[in-house]
Amino acid sequence: MTAVSLRPEYDRGNGWFEILGTQPEPVVLTGDLDADHVVIGAGYGGLAAARRLAELDPSASVILIEADRVGNNAAGRCSGFIIDHAHNIRAKGFADDTENAKRQIALNRAGVDWLDEIVHREGIECDWRREGKIHAAASAKGEETLAGFAESLDAVEEDYLMYDGVELKRRFGTDFYRSGLHAPHSILVQPAELVIGLANSMPENVQVFESSMVTDVDFGPPHTIRTASGSVRSPSLVIAANGFGEGFGLFKNSLIPLITWGSMTRPLSDDEVAALGGQENYGIIPAHPAGTTVRRRPDNRILIRNQYTFSRRSSVTKGIAAVKRAHEKSFRNRYPMFPNVEFEYSWGGALALSRNGEGVCGKVADGVWATMAYQGTGMAKGTISGKYLAEHMLGDDDPLMGLVAGAPSRNFPDPFNGWGVRMNSRWRRWQAGLEE
Ligand SMILES: Cc1cc2nc3c(=O)[nH]c(=O)nc-3n(C[C@H](O)[C@H](O)[C@H](O)COP(=O)(O)OP(=O)(O)OC[C@H]3O[C@@H](n4cnc5c(N)ncnc54)[C@H](O)[C@@H]3O)c2cc1C
Repeated sequence: MTAVSLRPEYDRGNGWFEILGTQPEPVVLTGDLDADHVVIGAGYGGLAAARRLAELDPSASVILIEADRVGNNAAGRCSGFIIDHAHNIRAKGFADDTENAKRQIALNRAGVDWLDEIVHREGIECDWRREGKIHAAASAKGEETLAGFAESLDAVEEDYLMYDGVELKRRFGTDFYRSGLHAPHSILVQPAELVIGLANSMPENVQVFESSMVTDVDFGPPHTIRTASGSVRSPSLVIAANGFGEGFGLFKNSLIPLITWGSMTRPLSDDEVAALGGQENYGIIPAHPAGTTVRRRPDNRILIRNQYTFSRRSSVTKGIAAVKRAHEKSFRNRYPMFPNVEFEYSWGGALALSRNGEGVCGKVADGVWATMAYQGTGMAKGTISGKYLAEHMLGDDDPLMGLVAGAPSRNFPDPFNGWGVRMNSRWRRWQAGLEE
């Protein structure tokens, strides 16, 4: 029997989830059940895998098990950019291999399109808007990076618009940014509403259990998956636990557990909205990957996301006071007209990255499959990986499956891995400078 050694512990700081108000009581796993497939983790990967397994095999029973509430996990704590192409701007290198870059874009777009189809077919209310993302620079160095990114997009024949500081002030209400690149095809959503909607609209042959932490697994097949109040026996197990994936003992030293952090203001008052001006809904990606993501929401809240923290235990609460102070500074740099607007919520979310940038998507043991580690952009990529994994399990591979079936490289042994990741994170923060 394998005791799961890394277990999520969430707080109630996730603004996206909390502003939705009281949720119905969770259906908790109780008793001893049998299922044709069990999926652990209701993030984008697990939700997609469970849905697709059930769609392709309507006579099969599928059980999806989530440790906490659906929507209070990283999937519902993220910034809500469903992206179609690279988030992290690499001025050099992005277009070196244009054919591969085009395939990656096609992969993300397949994820965006599948989500689009589900959201509109099922009537999921999650503020789905094709606003695109604006990569914005606050410094001369950032502007250089944007120019490199524009060249990369030209090389892969992607459309975009360039904005100057005046146009950005008109859109954002702040004159913090000097120039921007608008990539028009990404979607902005309320992420907690999206994941709750995805879980609530599962095919009939899927049962979703929340507040049901998997504590032990007897790997078979058949496998027995245990929680505090129940168990499921199944010949087929999908692990989609991402930032907590290492806890299942199968990915030792190949995932890098990171936390990234978000904060959300209270709603601006009518006077504050009038003083700010600009659009009611936008998403800003920083010119430097270690910079600050910003969302303004139709409910007049502003969201700040920055910093990556290495956390061996994937703790989403440790160090949150310092993170909140850093977020306040980033907020006031951008919105100096609001010295008294406070954050109502601050939270962390656990991710898994790999050293060579490759995710996990495929068979990992007899009767065990896994999908995780999408390098921090899992809304589109996690969704499509989960879908392709399910198709692969049932012998129906998509031609793009090869793009997600990666092999994460081994990490340096600890403590060198932790030191390396921390140093890298500090160095990148320092490089981001004003973009943070
Ligand atoms: C602040 C923040 C901002 C982000 N912004 C974006 C963005 O704008 N766009 C984007 O694409 N991505 C973004 N991301 C990344 C995105 O959230 C992840 O890539 C995505 O959630 C990964 O999906 P997943 O299904 O692999 O993992 P998760 O969403 O983490 O889901 C894994 C699930 O497994 C569950 N689990 C783990 N262990 C157990 C267990 N023992 N028993 C039961 N359940 C278990 C967890 O509770 C969790 O729900 C952001 C992340 C954060 C934290």
